Amino acid sequence: MPIFEYVCEECDCQFEQLFLSPKDPPPECPKCHGKKVKKLMSIGNVRPHGIPTGSGGFKAPSCMSCRE
Ligand SMILES: [Zn+2]
Repeated sequence: MPIFEYVCEECDCQFEQLFLSPKDPPPECPKCHGKKVKKLMSIGNVRPHGIPTGSGGFKAPSCMSCRE
């Protein structure tokens, strides 16, 4: 499953979102819940830890640029 990075145009929050389906609407910002998010092109970005598959499931996205 690819993971895409998005940036919120409202608050510049960057977050990652598991790609589900092309038919799905873009995710909303985890910080301000704004819908104006832009997909970042970060092909080839290998995550060091990855996302656990199987039982664990996917954690809710969190902002990478403004952790709270
Ligand atoms: Zn935002």
